Amino acid sequence: MSCKVVLAQGISASYREELKNTIKTRNIRPKLVGFLANEDPAAAKYAEWTAKTCAETGVEFELRKCSRNDLEDKIIEANLDAGVHGIMVYYPVFGDRQDQYLQNVVDVSKDVEGLHHKYVYNMYHNIRFLDEAKTKKCIIPCTPLGLVKVMEYVGVYNGILPHGNRLHGRVVTIINRSEIVGRPLAALLANDGAKVYSVDINGIQEFHRGVGLQLKKHEVSETTLTVEDVLPLSDVVITGVPSPSYKVPSHLIRDGAVCINFSTYKNFDGDEIKKKAAIYVPAVGKVTVAMLERNLVRLYDYQAQDRASSTA
Ligand code: NAD
Repeated sequence: MSCKVVLAQGISASYREELKNTIKTRNIRPKLVGFLANEDPAAAKYAEWTAKTCAETGVEFELRKCSRNDLEDKIIEANLDAGVHGIMVYYPVFGDRQDQYLQNVVDVSKDVEGLHHKYVYNMYHNIRFLDEAKTKKCIIPCTPLGLVKVMEYVGVYNGILPHGNRLHGRVVTIINRSEIVGRPLAALLANDGAKVYSVDINGIQEFHRGVGLQLKKHEVSETTLTVEDVLPLSDVVITGVPSPSYKVPSHLIRDGAVCINFSTYKNFDGDEIKKKAAIYVPAVGKVTVAMLERNLVRLYDYQAQDRASSTA
């Protein structure tokens, strides 16, 4: 079998190394506060991982546990604390629109997860900078950003093309359209030039900037296509179905495709997919955490910039 299996550990290594060097050579100590206000074992596991990677790279990580009803006040307290550079919350907390409200309580300048409405709006509208002078890049949510980095690493992005168009000509299927990963990812990849088929249990939407990428940002259209139609057309298949029984039908995968799984469960049959795919990435969690820390260092610098300009 000629399939190359690429592990998240290897993909994230250069980012972790870069973070470690930046923090050491600049002698800085960015501080990330994570709020755990639920009993979800997956959230606790993610918090554990975050603590471990932060310890490796030199980021100060503090996990603050509280009740969900105290969370809003605790976030405000961290917003006002100049010693805290980044804030994240392990969702779901209430599991409804109150979580969306809490995402907007986190100050934009400390939102390492890029979940504040300003970042979400800018991402969907392909607005890449916070300021007109283009000195401050917008924060992109960690898992979708991690998946972009995975695709860059395995060579799906074409470096000959200008930034912002490097997926021109690529067809990508994403099986998951959650607000946290699948929909933002579809928008990011389409904004970078791909034609994206976004699959969820209710059907398939197409995200695209049009033939020749004539649109500045992607448009979304409903389709009557099925998974049987789109998988054989796809250069890249990304899946995040939260179910142990779900398997992407390997026989529909195009020969030589790139297959990436971000679900906690193995959405691809490992043996079967290796007979078809050129590249298989079975998990991406470590890249997500590296992106979280990368966003933190970026926010640390923006906060320093703001302080310097307010005292100038
Ligand atoms: P979610 O439940 O919010 O969304 C699941 C999505 O998958 C929905 O769009 C749903 O319609 C779609 N879906 C479900 N069954 C399907 C099917 N049979 N066919 C097509 N679409 C189907 O979940 P989520 O928050 O997006 O998380 C999904 C998975 O990704 C979970 O396993 C989660 O743990 C994992 N995850 C991983 C990372 C990471 O960094 N590795 C980050 C976030 C989430």
